[in-house]
Amino acid sequence: MTKQEFSTTAKLDLSEGSFQSILNVGYAQWKLNDTWLYSDMIEFVKNVDEKFALAILVGKYNYQVNNGGHIQYFDNGYASIDENDKELHELMVELFEKYLKFDSVLNILKEFKLDTQYCYDCDGEGSFYEVDEETGEEEEEQCWTCNGTGQSQDMTVVNNEDLDDKYYKVNDKFIEYMETWCKSLFN
Ligand SMILES: [Zn+2]
Repeated sequence: MTKQEFSTTAKLDLSEGSFQSILNVGYAQWKLNDTWLYSDMIEFVKNVDEKFALAILVGKYNYQVNNGGHIQYFDNGYASIDENDKELHELMVELFEKYLKFDSVLNILKEFKLDTQYCYDCDGEGSFYEVDEETGEEEEEQCWTCNGTGQSQDMTVVNNEDLDDKYYKVNDKFIEYMETWCKSLFN
């Protein structure tokens, strides 16, 4: 698909605006390729034109954060290529810096931080104390969930609520900005 074909297809239905029409073309391509992951669709669109890929990354980010915060954006896999990384998020930041001028959102994106989660099974202790049935003595047992580390293997967004609050404040203005920017891509 060429950049021209992408634009032409997007312009066929602008009923929900230019921003949404770009997402729709990306998603239509994804539907045609059912072995793709979200990241494969992004890679495909990036090869057509990285600005369109940026629009889709931002659109999906916005939708997820509005639905359930940055934690949902991460948990649903829209920030990562593998489960526990933030490669797609980093791609979005890189392209955002290149093409968009909206610093308050860029700063929020740059603050997005992952860390390992505390293990809930052992309260982060790495072990339990259990009473040995034979001797009646308390014995320390290593937690099998986290192998004694006190940390779960899964990553999570550490500053989730802080980022949500900041984003919701600038959300409306940012979406207006995105709509104008996306419209300019069709000229
Ligand atoms: Zn544990």
